[in-house]
Amino acid sequence: MKKIPFTKIVATLGPASQNEAMIELLMQAGVNVFRLNMSHGKIEDHIKTINSIRVLEKKLQKTIGILCDLQGPKLRIGCFEEGMVSLKAGQKFILDSNPKLGDETRVELPHPEIFSSFEKSGTVVLNDGALSLQIKEVHKDFIETTVLNDALLSNHKGFNLPNKVLPLKSLTAKDLKDLDVLLHQDIDFIGLSFVQSPQDVQEALDLTKGKVRIIAKIEKPSAVQELDKILELADGIMIARGDLGVECPLEEVPLLQRKIIKLCREKGKPVIVATQMLESMIDHPLPTRAEVSDIATAVFAGTDAVMLSGETAIGKYPVNAVRMMQKTILKTESDSSYEELIALHFKPTKSISEAICGSLRDILKHLKNPKAIVSFSVSGGTVLRTSRERPLFPILSLVENEQVARFLCLVWGTIPEICVPPQKMEEMDSRAMEFAEKHHFLETDGELVITAGFPFEGKGKTNLIHITKMP
Ligand code: PGA
Ligand code: MN
Repeated sequence: MKKIPFTKIVATLGPASQNEAMIELLMQAGVNVFRLNMSHGKIEDHIKTINSIRVLEKKLQKTIGILCDLQGPKLRIGCFEEGMVSLKAGQKFILDSNPKLGDETRVELPHPEIFSSFEKSGTVVLNDGALSLQIKEVHKDFIETTVLNDALLSNHKGFNLPNKVLPLKSLTAKDLKDLDVLLHQDIDFIGLSFVQSPQDVQEALDLTKGKVRIIAKIEKPSAVQELDKILELADGIMIARGDLGVECPLEEVPLLQRKIIKLCREKGKPVIVATQMLESMIDHPLPTRAEVSDIATAVFAGTDAVMLSGETAIGKYPVNAVRMMQKTILKTESDSSYEELIALHFKPTKSISEAICGSLRDILKHLKNPKAIVSFSVSGGTVLRTSRERPLFPILSLVENEQVARFLCLVWGTIPEICVPPQKMEEMDSRAMEFAEKHHFLETDGELVITAGFPFEGKGKTNLIHITKMP
């Protein structure tokens, strides 16, 4: 039997990959969730891509999640007369509200609302950390700074004010417009960029009203500080290491990654490790050793998913990147140290469903040849509780609702399938067998560990555990 990876793969589609032939190849290579980045491209093209994914999902009989990542309040500078300037350490440089094209002495910062957030001696960072400026004087609509390092600066480069809570909402006017269209499309997740507080997530929830799940992107230190409350509200988390590595000292990113993964697992919410995982594969058919190690580190920490951005969106080798990611996941998960490294001991929450989900790991250890867990679930809640224990066996997740199945594409260890709920015990067994067969768990004899809520008609909470021996 082919081993199934527990850790899920999210791949971003873009000019290099949003055609149907390539999407099909990426699905076959093992992508579980496609990410569409609303910061780039036209919304009409994104809709075409969404439709292509849904056609292929049927054709290949795979359940696939779609994540639309909203741009959010990404700050950018204006433009230069020459398109680019060369700045030298020690020189003065001004950021102002003047829309005139910039030069070596100044450039526009077209976000008037943030001038009140500048503080004397603070630092601003441009172009993903490539240039730092120290603030010397703060005025109502401009700041005078000193350049801290030699750098080239070109049109529209990104601008960060690290470690500051800015008077900006996560949802911008553009995001609201995109959301209006996206909520009528067959998508599963919305990515909320630059979340600064739980209120940002609450506002998105009020607008989306349960039509899609909310993934809060953690890329501001203030979001890390309020992670507990953000996690209560959001359906999942993305560790957005790109901006996070600019907003806080780069050397803190690995520690934050570990901390965030652990917290998400405690709360039973899926977490994605994102950005630069195989960055060099944008141009090269093979990654660096450090990149492969980065994937293994995230897998060993027990992340639910790992993500590809530019590698699949604009890179020369999208399929190779997914294959490399999957190979690394499989190898890492088959290591003898994996079980010990991903084990987390949760304080038992006292409920019947927890009693069952929390003891599955032990039950599986007492069986001769267990093949899989089969979890009948209505909301997906039982699957989340089962998955957070990282039981080291596939969780065949049989749900009635397509949206729930697609949500589970982001959750560690699941194999989501849409299934008519059983009415009787015999039906429970036969459905479990049917899907176990589809996924080749019945090729040799062994046991299936089934969990469900009884009575079936009442959509009861998980209270039943049944072990079936096959054949
Ligand atoms: P982005 O988010 O690609 O939308 O910026 C991810 C990140 O910041 O890492
Ligand atoms: Mn970002």
